[in-house]
Amino acid sequence: QFHKSKGQHILKNPLLVDSIVQKAGINSTDVILEIGPGTGNLTKKLLEAGKSVVAVELDPRMVLELQRRFQGTPFSNRLKVIQGDVLKCDLPYFDICVANIPYQISSPLTFKLLNHKPSFRCAIIMFQREFAMRLVAQPSDSLYCRLSVNTQLLARVSHLLKVGKNNFRPPPKVDSSVVRIEPRKPPPAVNFKEWDGLVRICFTRKNKTLGSIFRQKRVLSIMEKNYKTLQALGVSAAGDVADDVAVLGESGEMEEESEDVDDDEDMEVEMEDGEGKGSEFKEKVLGILKLGKFEEKRSAKLAQADFMHLLSLFNRAGIHFS
Ligand code: SAM
Repeated sequence: QFHKSKGQHILKNPLLVDSIVQKAGINSTDVILEIGPGTGNLTKKLLEAGKSVVAVELDPRMVLELQRRFQGTPFSNRLKVIQGDVLKCDLPYFDICVANIPYQISSPLTFKLLNHKPSFRCAIIMFQREFAMRLVAQPSDSLYCRLSVNTQLLARVSHLLKVGKNNFRPPPKVDSSVVRIEPRKPPPAVNFKEWDGLVRICFTRKNKTLGSIFRQKRVLSIMEKNYKTLQALGVSAAGDVADDVAVLGESGEMEEESEDVDDDEDMEVEMEDGEGKGSEFKEKVLGILKLGKFEEKRSAKLAQADFMHLLSLFNRAGIHFS
């Protein structure tokens, strides 16, 4: 009856649904966005709490079931159902998002929401436990990663509720957590693409020193290519020319680096400069790391402000990451 591939796990515990809705802090004037309403257990409580609900659901069978459930009730004219993939559709205006989502879309959905304009008040979302812990992780926590840094740049994130698998039907394989995501207002004054470009490099190995990461030939050569392109264009701020410049890292996805299990006995060959002498550009980069005392630092322990500082030092030297 339920599609595993669509991440269909229905919330069957009404007390839990109540508690999610209560923690969401919904006002009676709120337009609520729900993603993946399924059979509508959460939708019903959202309709009771807010002004209206826009629900985006991929599965046409669920859309029908949802419409049937509210047909002829006072709720029907306050519920709008959009059938489609939430990652592909244009989102309407909303004040607050409340959702028990299919876990496979966690990362792209989070960033789609954080990119949405105008910005909403907050999102209360059920995630797989580990993903939730990555979102809220702080420097030195074992799950601290690029996802933590990027999300926390754009939003304040907090863990609200642990949810065991048996609250769902059918039960998923993993435990879950409800997280609150509150976009920062105003948004941070950085170019996100560029920020992510730098953070992506820094977290290729989060327990490795930045000194050794930025000595790698592959990293240096992409940075240098970018640098030269920008110089040739006579631009010192990257933003305008982003499309002409190679983007660092392989894909635009927000997926995480593989686990840093045995980082200390790194099997990777340290990249020495084949020609023996370091290039001028390499010296420039290492000089910047030294200036900010970053050479011996590891991303696992760096805070938001440290990455911000590092980015500004690079930018001041005309080095950009997008
Ligand atoms: N909200 C319901 C509940 O809590 O009982 C159901 C939650 S279930 C975990 C996820 C729902 O999202 C399913 O109904 C599934 O069909 C829907 N879904 C899966 N992928 C989707 C997508 N890309 N866009 C919109 N809905 C999606």
